[in-house]
Amino acid sequence: MNRTPEMPPAAAHLLLAAALRYAASGWPVFVLGRSKRPVALCGPCDTARKALTPHDPQACPCLTCHGFYAASTDPDRITAMLAAVPRGLLAVRTGAASGLVVIDVDPRHDGTATLNALIARGLTPPTRYARTGSGGLHLYYRHPGGIAVPCDQGIRLGPGIDVKADGGYVVAPPSRHPVTGRPYTWADQGSRIEEAAPALVSACLAEIRRQPPQRAGHHPPPRSGGAASYPDRLMDALVSRIHQAPKGRRRVTLFGCARGAARMVAAGQMTSTEAYDRLVAACDAARWPWAKSTPNAIREGFAAEGVTL
Ligand SMILES: [Zn+2]
Ligand SMILES: [Zn+2]
Repeated sequence: MNRTPEMPPAAAHLLLAAALRYAASGWPVFVLGRSKRPVALCGPCDTARKALTPHDPQACPCLTCHGFYAASTDPDRITAMLAAVPRGLLAVRTGAASGLVVIDVDPRHDGTATLNALIARGLTPPTRYARTGSGGLHLYYRHPGGIAVPCDQGIRLGPGIDVKADGGYVVAPPSRHPVTGRPYTWADQGSRIEEAAPALVSACLAEIRRQPPQRAGHHPPPRSGGAASYPDRLMDALVSRIHQAPKGRRRVTLFGCARGAARMVAAGQMTSTEAYDRLVAACDAARWPWAKSTPNAIREGFAAEGVTL
């Protein structure tokens, strides 16, 4: 009876209650590790990823593998997930899957000033929002449907504002931020989740300017602690190219993007696994049908830069 539980029972109970409430409203939920990172792949899934024919992450039956692909609205699966990852964080899959576009405001990177400008332009009308455990805001809007809204980090809407939509997720209340220990909280749970304004959707879909070419060894150092670090911006540019690739150019576009990502891997700015996951998620968010040619194109792009998975 003197055993110390991983999490106070009340906190675990609140997390589960919230997860089931979100699921009942149609939001697929999943768990992140206690450090806010996706839960590691199980042995067979990791082996499959390293093999020449990794499986479709969306069809994988595992409880917690493949990050947001594991998100579910099934109460039994959700209960099992939270039990499997004690002290994990509760996350909601964004995009068409949940019907959500979340605007993530980071005050540490001028997000507050940018948000004020967006409000002045009518892009972000009042809606239900959460305060994050690190002092930011998550504004929840309804996904327009019928169109993929890409995730973005500080590029399309401005500094300090990320978009969490197709191919993304948000940490949800009442999770606690792993660094600050503070909970994510609903600021005004009574208010409605408003439709994403057409002008906001347009801004989210806007073509982004190509990053200037960088040579290995001359990369500016990534900003510490910031979501919109340099590799993230470059990765966003690659993701944007995937979104804009016409049907007949998909494979060659993906190959080129994989080479670009591999150069960041070679420069030590991200791991090959992270790069691979971001590229696969981008293809999925852009609604490319799953095919063997997808992982193969990435693998070949990596190989062309001397990077292996
Ligand atoms: Zn697995
Ligand atoms: Zn799997």
